[in-house]
Amino acid sequence: MRQFENFGDQRYQGYCVHCGGDDGTRDHAPSKTLLERPLPENLPVAPACRKCNSGFSDDEEYVACLLECVLTGTTDPARIARPEIARALYKNRKLQRLIEAGRRETDNGPVWDFDVARVRRVLLKQARGHVAFEINEPHLEEAASVWFGPLETMTAAQRDQFEGRDEGGLAACPEVGTRAMQRLLVVGDQVFEEDAWLTVQPGRYRYRVTQEDGATVRMVLSEFLACQVIWD
Ligand SMILES: [Zn+2]
Repeated sequence: MRQFENFGDQRYQGYCVHCGGDDGTRDHAPSKTLLERPLPENLPVAPACRKCNSGFSDDEEYVACLLECVLTGTTDPARIARPEIARALYKNRKLQRLIEAGRRETDNGPVWDFDVARVRRVLLKQARGHVAFEINEPHLEEAASVWFGPLETMTAAQRDQFEGRDEGGLAACPEVGTRAMQRLLVVGDQVFEEDAWLTVQPGRYRYRVTQEDGATVRMVLSEFLACQVIWD
C-alpha cells in the first residue's frame, strides 16, 4: 500500500487510539492475523499502548479462524487451505473445539453459532485503527452503532449503500491534512470511481472511511463478512 504522512492535527497523536492511554507501540490496522502472508508492505499503523496492542490477539485469532472455518465449512485443519489458519487450529486445539462446538449441520449445510461479543470487539478495534489512521480522528468513545454480517445477507439497496455506489462522490470531502485527503489528491478522481475503498489485501481485507455527520468505517473481511461502525 502506498503510505502517506499524517499532517493533521497533532493533538490527536501520541496516545493509544483504543483506550486513550500512553502510546508506545504501533498497532497494525488491520491486524496482521486477519491477513495472509506474505503481508502487504506499509501496512497502516495506529499508535497504541502495549496492553491494547497485544490484548486483542486471542480474539483476533478466534475471528480469523472462525471466518476461515465458516468459509471452508469445516474446523478440520487438514482441510483448511490457508496455512496460517491451519497451523493455528493444529496448535490451538481448544480454539478448534470451541469453534466446532458452534457448528450445526442443517439441510442447507452447516450453520455456525459464534461469540458475537468477541467478533464485535475485534471489528471495533480495527475500525478505531482505521478512523485514526485515515482521518486523524481517534474515537475512544463507544460507537453509535456497530453492525456486521455476511455481505450476501444484504439487500441490493443495502449493498449499494454499503459499497458507496449511491453517493455523489465528493459529497463527503475529507479534511485537509488527513491521509484520506492526500490519497484523494494523489489518486484523484479514481478514488471515487472505486468508491474510496482501500484494498489492503485483495480478497482478504478492504476498508473505507467516510466523514458525514461524524465518521463511518466500513470493512469487508475475506469478501464475506461486512462490518459498519458509526461514530456520531
Ligand atoms: Zn490502550
